[in-house]
Amino acid sequence: AARQDGNGVARHFEHDMQTSSSKRHVLELMLRRAIDEEALSLNFQPQINLKTGNILLAEALLRWKHPDRGNISPADFIPIAESTGLILPIGEWVIRQACRQAVRILTRYGDCPRIAVNVSPVQFRRQDVLGIVRRELEAARLDPRFLEVEITEGVLLNDTEQSIATLQGLREIGVEIAIDDFGTGYSSLSYLTRFKVDRIKIDRSLVVAMMGSTHGTAIVSAILALAHALDVHVTAEGVETEEQANILKELGCDEIQGFWFSRPLTPQAFEHILAPWDSNGPNH
Ligand code: C2E
Ligand code: MG
Ligand code: MG
Ligand code: MG
Repeated sequence: AARQDGNGVARHFEHDMQTSSSKRHVLELMLRRAIDEEALSLNFQPQINLKTGNILLAEALLRWKHPDRGNISPADFIPIAESTGLILPIGEWVIRQACRQAVRILTRYGDCPRIAVNVSPVQFRRQDVLGIVRRELEAARLDPRFLEVEITEGVLLNDTEQSIATLQGLREIGVEIAIDDFGTGYSSLSYLTRFKVDRIKIDRSLVVAMMGSTHGTAIVSAILALAHALDVHVTAEGVETEEQANILKELGCDEIQGFWFSRPLTPQAFEHILAPWDSNGPNH
């Protein structure tokens, strides 16, 4: 009986593996088609300064609308795009679209919040990210100060030499660098002494932990103190309530991003909230 059970478990496991690998395969084929058919788009989520209320930045977030299956989350398709290499053309496309959107807003309103793009560790490993960013900035005729690149800690910890050279190059031309999902990864912060970043984005999980827990608050304060001592700006991610926003303001956090102020917006809706006749317009 034991043996039968064992086989059953093994077969069940194999079945699951097949399902998940064939699911991945289907998703990969769908994603290839999405790229060809231009079914990907970018949404923009504002980051507001807590002192002034101005929209200083906006994060570009990929959206994929499948004709039958509806919206497919980047949390589901980015890992597949990374493991298949599809992230390379997608990543280039994201940078191009972000630059174009910034130029469209600048042309219309004379100013634009800085646009932050997520760049995958796979892009850093396999692409000339600096070359691509320079090329797209030039093609769009966009001033580099309107662009920020979001990376995860892993980029600074692995393949260090080459990644740091790339990041250095980006900063030299005036593109800002942010560390995304801060507080979810490595406990060693020593990389912050090796490379100067412009911004840290405190992960949503720490914002949640901050509520009603003195330990959680202590961690957020400690990150703010560390960042500010290093002259690094801080955005708190995933701010969903006014209470969270108020606490973060008291703690001295610089910017917040989250559903409380705004969900990620279509390019049209994003332009609309930036309109000069709207009180939320960029006044920096
Ligand atoms: P991320 O870079 O940390 O982006 C923030 C995520 O938090 C976004 O999820 C955003 O919609 C979500 N979010 C914002 N405010 C709130 C809030 O108040 N509450 C909650 N619960 N969530 C909030 P999204 O758009 O689903 O993206 C998920 C992840 O996919 C991103 O996390 C990023 O790692 C990746 N991603 C998205 N777009 C791109 C891209 O263009 N390139 C790459 N390489 N990765 C991307
Ligand atoms: Mg991000
Ligand atoms: Mg993030
Ligand atoms: Mg996050």
